[in-house]
Amino acid sequence: MGAENQYFIPLSEKQTGVLSYNFKLSDSFFEELEDAEIKKGDLVADIECEKVSSSFHLHFNIEGSVLIPCDRCLDDMEQPISTEGELIVRFGEGNDTNENVVYIPENEQGIDISWNIYEFIALNVPMRHIHPEGMCNQEMAKRLATLMTNGDEELNDNDTASSKEGNHDTDPRWNALKNLKLE
Ligand SMILES: [Zn+2]
Repeated sequence: MGAENQYFIPLSEKQTGVLSYNFKLSDSFFEELEDAEIKKGDLVADIECEKVSSSFHLHFNIEGSVLIPCDRCLDDMEQPISTEGELIVRFGEGNDTNENVVYIPENEQGIDISWNIYEFIALNVPMRHIHPEGMCNQEMAKRLATLMTNGDEELNDNDTASSKEGNHDTDPRWNALKNLKLE
């Protein structure tokens, strides 16, 4: 249980001013999160907590890198992370359409923000992430590229079949391209 409270921000009605927290995130941070797709990383999260009337405004600043599989060769690659995020925490019950607003029970002493930190990191990973040119596992990248190309050829065959059946809606430039391929 102790580990779960490691990324805990205490929230007190008596708080005044801005309080700062600093968390070091290593592989164990990711391992403890059951649903985390990212498994490895080395980052620092700086969090500032300001009480604004009855809400707590948390500002996240996260810097470092995570290790994730490369899209091209599936080997681990280092993805730099530099991101900021906001979270507003309120005591009590409420429905807020803003996903950055969180309600916690009155009797809580604060909030575990490990999953919030994780989400900010995960959102900062680009959709397509690949090794720098020349750094891929060449053999694996070649194999995967061959698989992809085969898949494309099958798709093209289907397209050709449907155009033979008289699909006049096809872009003429596309047909010209197909004819080129057939020659
Ligand atoms: Zn790669």
